[in-house]
Amino acid sequence: MSLIVQKFGGTSVADPEKIRAAARRAIRAQKQGHRVVMVVSAMGKQTDELLRLASAVSEKPPAREMDMLLSTGEQTSVALVAMAIDDLGSKAVSLTGGQFGMKTDNSYSKARIRSIDTGRIERLLDEGNIVVAAGFQGIDDDLNITTLGRGGSDTTAVALAAVLGADACEINTDVDGVYTTDPRLLPEARRVDVISYDEMLELASLGAGVMHSRSIEFAKKFDVPIHVRSSFSDRDGTMIVAQAESENAPVSGAALTKDEARITVLGVPDVPGISQTIFSAIAKRKVAVDMVVQNVGAEGRADVSFTVPGDELKLTLEAIEGIKERIGASGLTHDANVSKVSVVGLGMARQKSVAARMFRALADAGVNIHMITTSEIKISALVPRDEASEALRAVHQAFGLHERPADAKTWAEIQAATGREADVEDVVSRLQNDALEALTLTDISILEGQARVTLDGVPDRVGVAADMFEEIGRAGIFVDMIVQGYDGVDGSTSVSFTIDEGDLDAGLKVAQSICDHHSMRDVRGASGITKLSVSGIGLRSHTQVGTVLFEQLAGAKINVEMIATSELQVNVVINSSRGDDAKACLQAAFAEALG
Ligand code: ADP
Ligand code: ASP
Ligand code: MG
Repeated sequence: MSLIVQKFGGTSVADPEKIRAAARRAIRAQKQGHRVVMVVSAMGKQTDELLRLASAVSEKPPAREMDMLLSTGEQTSVALVAMAIDDLGSKAVSLTGGQFGMKTDNSYSKARIRSIDTGRIERLLDEGNIVVAAGFQGIDDDLNITTLGRGGSDTTAVALAAVLGADACEINTDVDGVYTTDPRLLPEARRVDVISYDEMLELASLGAGVMHSRSIEFAKKFDVPIHVRSSFSDRDGTMIVAQAESENAPVSGAALTKDEARITVLGVPDVPGISQTIFSAIAKRKVAVDMVVQNVGAEGRADVSFTVPGDELKLTLEAIEGIKERIGASGLTHDANVSKVSVVGLGMARQKSVAARMFRALADAGVNIHMITTSEIKISALVPRDEASEALRAVHQAFGLHERPADAKTWAEIQAATGREADVEDVVSRLQNDALEALTLTDISILEGQARVTLDGVPDRVGVAADMFEEIGRAGIFVDMIVQGYDGVDGSTSVSFTIDEGDLDAGLKVAQSICDHHSMRDVRGASGITKLSVSGIGLRSHTQVGTVLFEQLAGAKINVEMIATSELQVNVVINSSRGDDAKACLQAAFAEALG
């Protein structure tokens, strides 16, 4: 008999009528012959309400008590859903995370799933029950209640689908699928039929709140197809699967992280080990850092800029204050009024000038770009917060995301063409793991024969990045990594990008003419550059990846010239003479995660 996991989000169980509707949907699935496990979130805005209560009684509520409190939202809703099912004449049992054996680590409010004991759920299903499982919560080794982080019920649902070997995992929510961007922000956003795990993972981590990004890590690791659909209609929604909707579209979605904050650590000595000290201090607090840019400034001193989620700014600043003297930084600045606009697409890795198109769209909309980082399937730009909505609209328009790509395929067409490709043995071997959310790496590789071009004193004004990368594109040069960040010298910015070694002379020539035209300070270039890539699943949210990487490279006295992070890869640019050493020491350090 097939097993189906049906998750219902907060708005889908917001009142008694909606609870009864969710119950009816589960009963219907059961009557169609499925074994049904429901995963339910707290009703409506209950979690926000509990957070408000906590802050009303305490300025700094202890993390343990916070999780104890927040878990009650889901405890309420599962009981009500089970009662509704009973009232409608079917059998149901509600279970808290602890009751169905959801074991996590002990990092309150960001707990990672270790293992799930499926015995009790299976027994209840065998007895003909609909099992109503509480989302978002688990217990640690000491039976303390933990929570997985805001939006974490999605992760409960996909993890349960994985360990139960479910045939389907439905995410029932208040939108009828995944859109090219948040339809609440942009009415012209288009619902997609299919989106790939990789694209959804990046989009979710870059602000597409429709799915908790960690749920997509599970889906990808254990090959769980996800169906995102409306709780309030029977229409098919979006399938999140291994394949993409279109082969040719460079961009499949855009996302906005409205509340981002930029931090710059000024004038640190440019020697191996400094980045490591900074980022391990932050990683210890489990803050996911993004858009890391290091500029080599004057006199062997560097400025390190990066962004963190706005609500983690305080925690991050505290972490850096603690090490500022030790690393010899001359100052610390931050900007809390910035947003991150990103575009994501599997197709961009194969196409030229995608970044230039994004920068031109922003320039034409009059949006100034403060920082840029790119990785193989995403480009992020940091913009002033009051220009963020306009920025999102502009890039959505520029890539024609409101229109279905000509070669787009439906899920039925993709299935007909490829069949399901679950590697059953691989899935089973990973499931025996007792650390379900442990870091999973797939590869550590180096790409030699690269060169770097750096422009210093780039004026921080509208249109400069667009001019620059359009001109480089016109010269027929393929640009790989791009980073733009703050330059502590005079508030201007500095831009570095990597190209093929053979293109260095041409690249420098173009860069020099851009430099003259925009009155920039300096152009520098270096050949003999290697890109070192660590690939895997959920790398940015597993904050230890950066820490271990920097630790290892610093230990081997290898200087990191550029950094680009995403959920799928962490890339660093280093000198070619150390490429093999770097690869070897990372392979040793990550041996366990490489499996
Ligand atoms: P639930 O309570 O069901 O978990 P959420 O509020 O967490 O629902 O997620 C659904 C919301 O996600 C939608 O109402 C929508 O505004 C938002 N959203 C953000 N990005 C996207 C996107 N790319 N596609 C669809 N919805 C999105
Ligand atoms: N109730 C939790 C939250 O509001 C978990 C969830 O809804 O997924 O974040
Ligand atoms: Mg949600």
